[in-house]
This record gives sequence, structure tokens and C-alpha cells, in this order.
Amino acid sequence: MTAPDVAESSLDTLLAWIRTESPTHSRAGVNLMMDLVVGGLAGAPVAVERIPGGEGLGDVLVLRAGPERDEPATLLLSHLDTVHPLGTIERDLPVRREGDRLYGPGVYDMKGGAFFALEAFREVAARGTASRPLVFLVTPDEEIGSPLTRPIIENFSRRAAFALVTEPARSGGRVVTSRKGVGRFECRVEGRPAHAGSRHAVGRSAIREAARQVLAVEAMTDYARGVTTTVGLISGGTAMNTIPQHCRFAIDLRVETPADGAEFEARILGLRAHDPEVRVTVTGGMNRPPYERTEAVARLFERARALAAEIGFALEDVPKTGGGSDGNFTAALGVPTLDGLGIDGDGAHTLEEYGLLSSMAPRRALIRRLLETL
Ligand SMILES: [Zn+2]
Repeated sequence: MTAPDVAESSLDTLLAWIRTESPTHSRAGVNLMMDLVVGGLAGAPVAVERIPGGEGLGDVLVLRAGPERDEPATLLLSHLDTVHPLGTIERDLPVRREGDRLYGPGVYDMKGGAFFALEAFREVAARGTASRPLVFLVTPDEEIGSPLTRPIIENFSRRAAFALVTEPARSGGRVVTSRKGVGRFECRVEGRPAHAGSRHAVGRSAIREAARQVLAVEAMTDYARGVTTTVGLISGGTAMNTIPQHCRFAIDLRVETPADGAEFEARILGLRAHDPEVRVTVTGGMNRPPYERTEAVARLFERARALAAEIGFALEDVPKTGGGSDGNFTAALGVPTLDGLGIDGDGAHTLEEYGLLSSMAPRRALIRRLLETL
């Protein structure tokens, strides 16, 4: 099996990564991935710190390399958890190559990018060509909003000059220089149960109240302003012939600015029952702050674009994307952040997920040059 510009040994290692299934809540699977990363760094001048995961999550790796000077570092971020449950390879998404496409769970989001970023990091460490200290955080929990690693990422961000994130490239290899902020909420509605036949008038339907709340939440969507609200999950009721006591639903909020984040968070948390005899309780809040394309982000992108041109490819960025990433955390702390540096391909979070092998060598070279010149 050969691939354009990808060494056979590299490809074998990447295949081993893809075959190691690592959904976020499989602590064992994620830790096997961390083992593969640590094993791959054997003999390299890289300091490896392994922070044990907690609450059923895998470990976090803090990899340090480059000059031991007291100056802000370049921070690299890769997550090795995926959204695909164990068994996906046997059932739904076999690891296979079709031409330039490598199919498999997590190949695009984001094992492909994490893989070649680590290769570039190792190479720069071995050559001693890093332009400043390098810190590479390899994380286990991005796909569930990074509850374990957010404080770790933010801690390192406070001492970082730049952040490079290896989330998947967008179509045509474009990188990401802004992302919407993401809020997550849960709304619980409690009414009064009653027999649907004999005591209908006494009941207070939680589902009826929830239906009104769902419409109110969905009506907050304002495309012109870049604000969307989605009720993506709902459950409730006891039986077909019972006025329902309980109903609950989940709300996903996306915003472009911190001000909109604060405003819509307050509006959602402020939902009140129409019926005074029904209780509405909303929990949650903004999870990922918006990642804005500031002047500093634009300058970082221009530097990356110039390096890509030297390597021989044209680098573009995409208009603001709706999906959040750990880059939202670094950017919100004012660290110039470049995201979408990972593998090109398509089908993130689906059973059609693939990465393009031909995108690996040039993008790996781009990361290496960024580590050498930023
Ligand atoms: Zn991802």
C-alpha cells in the first residue's frame, strides 16, 4: 500500500492509530492512543508529562521541546478522542484506502492532523530548530466540550505566544481563523400529573409547557446576526393516558460575539413558565467563547500563508465556522490562534469519514515551518 508523499512506515503507524478506537468515554481506548504517542516519541528530545484523566476520561499529555528559555511558547493542541463508539470499525466504517482517501473513525477529526503534527514536532525537536519553547497538549475530551482539559489549556494559553490547532482542514485544505461560540443548556419542565381521562382538568402538562418553550427558544435564531438556537434532544411523559409531569430538552446556542453570548445566555437562563403551576428550570451556559478573527489572528494567518507558498501550496481560510474547538479557549484569552491545520478530507462525525493522504506531507511541512519561524 503506497500513498503519495507519505512514507510507508508513517502510513503503517497512522493505520495503527486509526485502528485504535478511542471514543471519549472509552478511557482504555483513549489511553491506548496516548501510549502510541508516547511510544512514538521514544528517543526524541521531548519531555513527556502524563496527567491522569479523571471521571472516566483518558489521560492528558503535556509534551515540551525546544529552547529552555523563559519566553512565551508556541502551543499545539490535538485531541485523540473521537465521536465513534467502539465497534464502528467492524460494523460501519472499516479502515480502508480508496485512492487518495483513507477511511476510518477519527481519521479526519482529528487523528490524521494530530499524527503529522506530532511528526513535525518531533522532527523540529530532534533538529533543535524550534524558534521558541514548544508545548504540545494531547487531550482526551474535546468531543464532549473539554471538561477535564479546559483549565489545562487555559493555563498554558496564559503563557503562549501562538496556538496551533490540528482540527480538520475545510474543503480544499482551508484553515480556520474564527469560530462561533457555543452554549449548551438543559431545560427541565415539571407539571402536575393526572389521569388523562378522569382528572384531565387537574393536570398541568409538562409537555405542553415545554412545547411553548421550545418554540420560544427556536425563535431566538437570527441568521443575520449569526445567532442560532437548536433544540436537539427532547424527552418526557409517563404514559399515553397520563398528563405528563416531566419534560426536558437540550439547547445548543451558537453566537459570533461575546456580547451575544452573554445576551442569549441570559435570555435562555431566564426562560419562565407560562403556566404559574408549572416549573421551568434551565441550567447550563456558554461552553466555548467565540474565536474572533482579530488583527493578530489575521497576521498569524498571513505568516502561515507565506510559508505555505514557499512549500508550494495556496493556503486560504474559511468564513466563520459554526463548530467550536479548543481553539475557542486559546483565542478567547487573546492568543493568536490558527485552527484547521489538520488533514484535509470530509465526513467528520459520520460513517463516511475520510482523510486525504496527499494533504499530509504539505501540511506537515507547514506545521514544521511554523514551529521553526513563529
Ligand atoms: Zn475535532
